[in-house]
Amino acid sequence: MPVNHNAGFDMVPRLSASLEDKKLWRKFINHVKEKFKADVNLHVTEDYIEFDVGDRPKLPFEGHKFLRFSLIIGSDGTAAAVNGAYLAVIAGIAQEYFGMERLQGWNDELGTRGHYTAAEVHESILSYSQLDLPPPSVAPTSTTTTTTAPPFFQITILPTKGRALIAQTAIPKGTRILSERPLFTLSAHDPRDIITAIASALQSLPKPDQQGFLTLSNAHRIDTGLHPFLGTFITNSLPCDRDLYRGDPQRRPAPDTTGIFPTISLLNHSCVPNTVYAFNPRTRFGTVHALRAIPVGEELTMTYVPEDAARADRRDRLQGSFNFICACAACELPPAQLGASDARRTQIDVLRSSIENNPARETKDADVFQLRMLHNCYVLAQLLREEYGEAARLSWVYDMALRTCLKNEDLGRAGVLARRVYEALVVELGEDSQLAQEMRGLVPDPKGSQRWDMVSAHWRTTSEAVPEGLDGEEFERWLFKISEVGR
Ligand SMILES: [Zn+2]
Repeated sequence: MPVNHNAGFDMVPRLSASLEDKKLWRKFINHVKEKFKADVNLHVTEDYIEFDVGDRPKLPFEGHKFLRFSLIIGSDGTAAAVNGAYLAVIAGIAQEYFGMERLQGWNDELGTRGHYTAAEVHESILSYSQLDLPPPSVAPTSTTTTTTAPPFFQITILPTKGRALIAQTAIPKGTRILSERPLFTLSAHDPRDIITAIASALQSLPKPDQQGFLTLSNAHRIDTGLHPFLGTFITNSLPCDRDLYRGDPQRRPAPDTTGIFPTISLLNHSCVPNTVYAFNPRTRFGTVHALRAIPVGEELTMTYVPEDAARADRRDRLQGSFNFICACAACELPPAQLGASDARRTQIDVLRSSIENNPARETKDADVFQLRMLHNCYVLAQLLREEYGEAARLSWVYDMALRTCLKNEDLGRAGVLARRVYEALVVELGEDSQLAQEMRGLVPDPKGSQRWDMVSAHWRTTSEAVPEGLDGEEFERWLFKISEVGR
């Protein structure tokens, strides 16, 4: 049997994003380019150089993204010799700049292994072209945690809450405040006892990261019989498997995978949060974005529970799961305003459920039904803006309206809504999220994806149908077909 095998070298520890490391990496890249300048197999792109041999290995222009250079070395004698020669030359140049100790050579055939997992390497290669990904600066002791330097906030101790993240600069809406890898994650499918799983995850972490976990708060300290590891995990873990939790919060499936983050897990709760947490399954980073402009000195907050519920329900859940009585701005409103807020949040929850649970029916009254869907989206968006102001998360509701328009071939409205969904997703998840990328493609060509089940062509329009010169509210009424409701 012909056997292909892999060989290569890993950079251990990886380079940082410091100026010094950048200079060193640039010299190395220039040297490689110079060496292979006459070689037709060398391709230079915007973000990396690539060799058209083996499985097309790449060297990124940003050295901190680099983990591994490897080549498939085929069973064909000539190919093996050629590929092996590329590897030897590049490894030789790398050694000049980074030293023998930092380059961990390995070869499948000889049974030696690289330092990084295949998944880590895969991610790193994906990141070569992601210019907006914040450079992960790695502590030399840690290979699992990469945290962006936090210029946006400082961690202080508040007498009532313990640790808190306080903005130390004005943060514009949509800013990526944090982006980090989980210290470790646990899967619901993990066959091991959960405490054993946490213990073994901790064991594989460097000391500072273990300390990080052990000093997190534990809301279940006084609960009978709950192991401190488990209590701490339950209190601080966040979903690590999907981009976004959409729709009706009561019906969201529990995440399969949850994880602990070194910094994100320190964010305190508010029922009017100024940031939003999301997990990017592609980069496997957790992110925190500013939902609105945040002034200097304000605490950064996220929500621990579905916030579209009356205060009594929110406080019940928070006390049950996190052992505190929420005293955020929304919970401390004067009675009259609290009543209005409770009513709005309850209505938001009802509308969300009704939008989400309505199947796309193809009945005689389909038209009326579709119009009602759109009307509900209009009301929901208004309520969200009234309750949360600039920090309202609107991607889901615009997405629902977009789907309704696409189902009826209303491409004029769909184009406008796709842009709104995209802009909201960039604020909530970041430009590099898959959902944002997909939606960006839909803006110029809403029908392009073909993934919509047409219900009717009754609303058929094109982008020319978008009216000009309407003022804000008039335009909203056109967009959501408000005048046509009840027709
Ligand atoms: Zn609250």
